[in-house]
Parts: sequence; structure tokens; C-alpha cells
Amino acid sequence: MKSLLKDTFELAEQLLQLEQDAAPMPRHDVGALGDQLSLELPQDGATQGEVFAKMSAVLNATPQTSSPRFLNQLFGGRQNYAAAADMLTAMLNVSMYTYKAAGAMILIEQQLVQHMAKFAGFTNAEGVICPGGSMANFVGMMMGRDRANHDFREHGSDGRQHTFYVSTQSHYSVDKAAAMLGVGRANVRKIKCDDNGSMNVDDLANAIEVDITNDCVPCAVIATCGTTVLGAFDPLKQIASVCRKHNIWLHADGAFGGPALLHRQHRNLLDGIEYADSLSWDAHKVMGVPLTCSMLLCQHQGKLSKSLQQDAEYLFQVDHEDLNPGLRSIQCGRRNDAFKLWSAWQALGDNGWHDRLEQQFKLAKFAADYIEQSADFELCQRPEYLTICFKVYGVDATELCDQLHANGEALIGHADVRGEQVMRLVVVNPEISTSDLQRLFENIVAKQRNIISA
Ligand SMILES: *Cc1c(COP(=O)(O)O)cnc(C)c1O
Repeated sequence: MKSLLKDTFELAEQLLQLEQDAAPMPRHDVGALGDQLSLELPQDGATQGEVFAKMSAVLNATPQTSSPRFLNQLFGGRQNYAAAADMLTAMLNVSMYTYKAAGAMILIEQQLVQHMAKFAGFTNAEGVICPGGSMANFVGMMMGRDRANHDFREHGSDGRQHTFYVSTQSHYSVDKAAAMLGVGRANVRKIKCDDNGSMNVDDLANAIEVDITNDCVPCAVIATCGTTVLGAFDPLKQIASVCRKHNIWLHADGAFGGPALLHRQHRNLLDGIEYADSLSWDAHKVMGVPLTCSMLLCQHQGKLSKSLQQDAEYLFQVDHEDLNPGLRSIQCGRRNDAFKLWSAWQALGDNGWHDRLEQQFKLAKFAADYIEQSADFELCQRPEYLTICFKVYGVDATELCDQLHANGEALIGHADVRGEQVMRLVVVNPEISTSDLQRLFENIVAKQRNIISA
């Protein structure tokens, strides 16, 4: 291992150099790449030098997500302490089901649960780190289903139609979860949005009342806090009052927008979060922690184990239930995603997270201002959060993105906004500079000129 570590550090340094150069990341033709890298698995093992040479080649052909040209995902950049801790996590290799197997790491996860719960105003909180916001949403929705129908977990559906409510701008993980929960995709009611992309609460209230009249069982409303495209926030306070009226579980999907709670002013985007029953909050997107790391918080202690507990005499042999989070997780063996987030938090503190977000908001504002002032672009709307959607006059957004991708100038995406494909820029890496953004816009304009004149 010692000798591997030396080679590993060399590769890590090589990666840092690649990112620093901010060289274009050319798209590799998928067929040629497979041949060139000889990825097939050998019958006989290779020497250390040969293995590392192969690893290095693969590393060079993988998108560098900390490059300032990587702008199309809801993650990008790296919180360095988290990355360092995660390298050690692989070596420690504990499983997060019991204190007996994971020791201090269990206490670290508990610290994170309670500390993050405070930011959400959850007073009687429990929680568990999930492998992503999709799974965290699944768990939140399951608790809603189980509260609406105590018998579902044991016996499955009793034949009544069970329903979920979510906006048309919500993340597709909700549909998948509805399928996995035995409720069915067709029973996810898509509530229309106002122009800014947030859920229309009158429509929500109507949909619920119609369903109740028809003997449906509403299981949960999933409010999106930070939509994937526009970065819009559903009005939690009003949604919560609809939920309270009918005693329906409110799950807040803050996979993208949850971290706004760490910003002293912009936390008001999630006004009313304290009324939610559960919350998903990804640390692997806006907070720069390596994938995956998603906190699922629940406002009511005991609900997680009610939905997930399973007897396993061979596993949960000692210690109080609190110390055995395997009683509250979907997985049996569970990766330690706590240490990296905890280490980052040690380095930044609450105030450091605020500052980091402040920088992200500043970059988003810079981009929006630039777009607004340019004659070649049209801003779809002022961003509330960290995604900026805009039109480029005279060209198709899809073609433009493809061309920027082809020679590696930028990885940027496009999305449907009010029926039209537009450019979607994501500014979550606080290490990128305004000149990086300026270069991006200049590249876009150059491409636009090329396409128009061709
Ligand atoms: C990214 C995202 C998800 C899914 O989270 P993963 O961590 O990618 O599984 C869910 N909801 C929203 C709003 C998201 O942006």
C-alpha cells in the first residue's frame, strides 16, 4: 500500500495540473476511446507500473469536474478537505450500520444530522445520509406514505388510489420513487407552476380536494426547493398550511437548494422549511463534497425506523438503537459519507459555508448581469439561485452546446424553459472566476457568429 500511495499522489497531482491549465476538454469519440485505452479486463494481472499507466490514461480521458469549463451539472469544483477526507474514508472502509462497526463515524453522522437540522429549524430531528437526493426523496416519500396508510409497508396497497403531489418543474426522482413505493407514476399529480417556476398553491389545494372527494389517499406533497432548471423555490409556508389542513406529509426536496439555508440572507428562499416533515439536502452539489452525500432529515424522531426497521439479530447485537443507524437506512452495508462532510465543516465552520455561498451568488449575479447587458443574449429571468437560463439570438441552443462540447471549450447544458430550448448555465464552483465566465460568453458569441454565417 505504501508504494501505491506514492503513485496515487503522483496521479492526484497530475489531475490538479490538468484542472489548473483549464485547457479545453475535447470530447472523446466513444469508439476510438475504448480502443485507445484498452479497457477490457485481462486474464493475468499487470505490474504496478502498468496498472498506474492505465489509470493515468483513463484519468486523462475523464471530464475534469473541477475545471472552470465544467458548467453543466448541479455539482462542480471540489471542497478540498472533503476530498482529502474521502480518500482516507476509502482506506478506513467502515460500514455505517452500527457503532460496533463504524465507531466515531457514527457520532460524526449524528453531529451532522443535529447541526443541519438546526439550520432547517427541525427541533425533534433524526436523519440519515443517503446515496443521493433521489434516494433521500424516496425515503421522505416513504415516510409520508406510511403515515397516510400505516398498513402499506406490511401488506401493500389496499386497493385505494394513493397519490403524491409535486410541481411540473420537479425532479424526475419523484416519479421513480412513486413507482418503487408501489404508488405508481400515474398517481403523481403534477401541479402547474407560476411563471417563475414555483408551484401554484391554489392548484395544489384544488388537486388535493378533488382526490380526497374521490377517496384517494394523499401520501405527501413534495415541494421543490431549488428546481433543476430555473432554480425556483416552491412557497413552503403556503404549501405547509395546505398540508396541515389535510394532515398530509410535506417533504422538501432541497437536493439543490438546501444549502441556501447556510446563507444568512438567502436562507429566506426556504422560508417555512420548519413546517416541513422531511428534507433532502445534497452536500455533493452546491457544497462541493465528493459524490455522493445527501442528508435526509426528518422532523419527527422515530419515523425513519418505523418505515425502515428490520429485525436482523446477527447485526444489531449491541448498543442503543441511536447508535445503530442501520435501523434507519435503506442499505445494509452503507458507505461512510459523513467523514468528508464533517471534515469540510471543520475547515469552514458555519461562517465559511456562508462565505462560500456568497461567492456562488456573486458569480451567478455577474453572469446574469453580463447576459442582460449583452446584445447577443436574452436572460429568461433573473436567477433566484445558481442556474442562469438565457437565449442566444439566431442559434439553436442544442447545436450551440454540442459545438462547445465538441472541442472542449465548455460543458454547458440546455433546457426547456416555457416551451423553448435555452442555454442553462450552472454556477456552483466558487473557484471559477469572472474572467472564466467572460471567456465562456465570448466563446458562445464566436460560435454564434460561425453558425449564423455558415
Ligand atoms: C439533483 C436533484 C435531485 C436528485 O439528487 P441526486 O443526488 O442526483 O440523486 C433531486 N431533486 C432535485 C431538485 C435535484 O436538483
